Amino acid sequence: MSDRPVVQAVGVVKGYGEGSTRVEVIRGLDLEVVTGELVAVTGPSGVGKSTLLHLVGLLDRPESGRLELDGVDVAPLSLRERARLRNRMIGFVFQHHYLLDELDARDNVALPLRIAGQRSAAARSRADELMAAVGLAGRSGHFPDQLSGGEQQRVAIARALAMRPRLLLADEPTGNLDRDNAVQVFELVRKLHLLEGLTSIIVTHNEELARRCDRVVDLAPAGQKV
Ligand code: ADP
Ligand code: MG
Repeated sequence: MSDRPVVQAVGVVKGYGEGSTRVEVIRGLDLEVVTGELVAVTGPSGVGKSTLLHLVGLLDRPESGRLELDGVDVAPLSLRERARLRNRMIGFVFQHHYLLDELDARDNVALPLRIAGQRSAAARSRADELMAAVGLAGRSGHFPDQLSGGEQQRVAIARALAMRPRLLLADEPTGNLDRDNAVQVFELVRKLHLLEGLTSIIVTHNEELARRCDRVVDLAPAGQKV
């Protein structure tokens, strides 16, 4: 781990709506995540965990405060620049796998590379490499509905890593899995985090899994913390 911050948030504020319907979700958040760190984000439902990941993942913008990725202030970036930075730097995994039903596992994993302009053969070869890395060598030709929930999530993790991101953002990646599968998928993320030299932020409700990370950031309001 080095001390170089990959994510730095200072006084970040984000809410939804205006006037009497406004809900302020993130109220002046300070967060620093350094290169190589594996950080768990916890807290009760509705506290703003997904909102935080959307901000860090450049899917949404802070209303105020400062957010830097790799030392770059992201506020002045255009939509296009944000998309470029996101595609190059960030891999996402969500609670639902969002695999495309009509593509087999290999082509799902290869999709980000094809969109980025890679030739089919090179993209598929990288996809097979990643399928092996997530323990699914030999399943490349399976379609999502021929895979178990745990396997579908493994394919989604492989897809998130296709572009060799530096930052992995996972929003309750084991939330739909039974306990054994949740532990296995979580351990897979931890293994890949180390192997690929990632910096990772993982939202989880599971405190046992959160404790396996380098650090836990609990978003629960002070009064609700146990
Ligand atoms: P968590 O992931 O911790 O469950 P979220 O970040 O999804 O929480 O949501 C935090 C709060 O913000 C919730 O009260 C939710 O209803 C609200 N919220 C989230 N997204 C929107 C949106 N697009 N518009 C309005 N309110 C939203
Ligand atoms: Mg959420």
